[in-house]
Amino acid sequence: MLAALRIADRIGASVLNVHPGIHGYFPERFWPRMKAAELAVFQELSAFGEPRGIRVVAENLIRTNVHFEDTWTLDGVVRLHDDWQAGLKGLCLDTGHAHQAGLDVAAAVRRLGPRLKHLHLHDNHGGPIDEHLPIGDGTIAWDGVFGALEDVGFDGLAVFEFGPPERQREAADRLRARFGA
Ligand SMILES: [Zn+2]
Repeated sequence: MLAALRIADRIGASVLNVHPGIHGYFPERFWPRMKAAELAVFQELSAFGEPRGIRVVAENLIRTNVHFEDTWTLDGVVRLHDDWQAGLKGLCLDTGHAHQAGLDVAAAVRRLGPRLKHLHLHDNHGGPIDEHLPIGDGTIAWDGVFGALEDVGFDGLAVFEFGPPERQREAADRLRARFGA
């Protein structure tokens, strides 16, 4: 991840997103140590990124039975965020991961609130497969999500995690119509 941060610095990127989470195939007694190691990693990354103007963000992941325990509920990423001492930090909400995990995506936006600094936008049919479909092709209630983003005053960057380019252009038009510039 430090190598990725060096690349981010070289290309002038302003955000580096990291997949956090503990691995459920280790016995539960090791989870507190994994959480401590996870926090130490994020401290180290932001110590490098912050002076270079790069915000490190942690993303919610899909619900599985082997890893990412506690990120899909948002509990783990919220705790990680709140324990993490940094100025340029934040959480990335991946809309498809939240929906796959059975969360209400608009409620997830509201729960993260001011912690929310980055967005991964894609759709699916609510699990178990993380389909990475264009916005509107799955069952996420997008109007509610857009309303929640306005309510929390989201002003970060959003990334489309679906293809092809024509569908991305269509989604950009839809978002422009909804939000203006
Ligand atoms: Zn993502």
